[in-house]
Amino acid sequence: MTNVSLENLTKFYPGETMPAVKNVSLQVESGSLTALLGPSACGKSTILKMIAGLLAPTSGNIRFDGQSILRLPPDRRDAVMVFQNHLLFPYMTAGENVGFGLKMRHRTRKEITQAVSRMLELVQLAGMEQRKPSQLSGGQQQRVALARALVLRPQILLLDEPFSNLDANLRLEMQQLLISLHQKLGTTMLFVTHDQEEAVSLSSRIALVLEGTLRQYAPAATLYDQPADREVAKFFGAKNFIPGNCTDGYFECALGCLALPEEASIAGKILTFRPENVILGTARNTENSFQATLMSKKFLGSQTRLELRKDAVTFQALLAPHIAEPLMEGSPVSVHLPRRSLWVLG
Ligand code: ADP
Repeated sequence: MTNVSLENLTKFYPGETMPAVKNVSLQVESGSLTALLGPSACGKSTILKMIAGLLAPTSGNIRFDGQSILRLPPDRRDAVMVFQNHLLFPYMTAGENVGFGLKMRHRTRKEITQAVSRMLELVQLAGMEQRKPSQLSGGQQQRVALARALVLRPQILLLDEPFSNLDANLRLEMQQLLISLHQKLGTTMLFVTHDQEEAVSLSSRIALVLEGTLRQYAPAATLYDQPADREVAKFFGAKNFIPGNCTDGYFECALGCLALPEEASIAGKILTFRPENVILGTARNTENSFQATLMSKKFLGSQTRLELRKDAVTFQALLAPHIAEPLMEGSPVSVHLPRRSLWVLG
């Protein structure tokens, strides 16, 4: 298990005036499963390739357990990368593909056979050693690719959008497999994804990258409930941004004078809260309760989205459909914003 530390990592591709990665500093804890999340072209793969040694940073440093690895070639870094298109050798069997790296490291035949069959068992492909990649499904090929990487017992496993080519059900299955491999082997894993649900369900911490910079590095719940800025909030689907002012633990705005959680910033001018945390319907005399008008509602399947208005401000709420059903468009509705659901952006 290895701590990976990125220090002010910057990458300009040749001939480019804007860096693809700007001053990224990140500590990936030993044994963690961490997501590098962000939209397409924000620099995620570039960061991964610099860790793997496939690209040299323009400036900055990368340390494994405190030691800089910048001078080490890829094969001596002990960081193995798994790509979206798994690139198996088509003429080799699944077993030969998995054992290839060990063969290159001159392990004995017996060692290789044992390690390969243990790995194939771990990725639930026992008995498929003799199949060629063309005789395996897309998901099975991705399992072989995972086994081929993990059999080398790397210090860090780097996964670049590993499941994005798979359909939704298979993707869930592979995510479960990755979690169980991580639990069994304890390898430090860093995986790139543009899919926030995948990042949230797989990882203990998420590093959110936007336009080449690291915007927030925190557990998933923190990114949802306490976003660092408006862009982070928007990336995670925030819709409600209400202007106003903080005074003595309260936020004064068109919705009223709302009590804030203790940890909220006191200098910010924008209040945010997630639509799913808005409580509607029951009249309350508690703090952070007020009347609004239900402007519209839209059934979305598993949830119903409601548009509400108080004075000049509109905001959104998401409710379970059976709770939203009796609420009538154009009618007044009681709103409660739990103190803990509020957050103030700088
Ligand atoms: P992501 O993995 O987040 O989709 P990348 O790291 O692949 O993003 O790319 C980040 C930016 O760097 C993009 O604007 C991309 O076009 C650019 N880029 C990637 N590879 C190269 C390259 N070899 N030469 C020039 N620009 C590149």
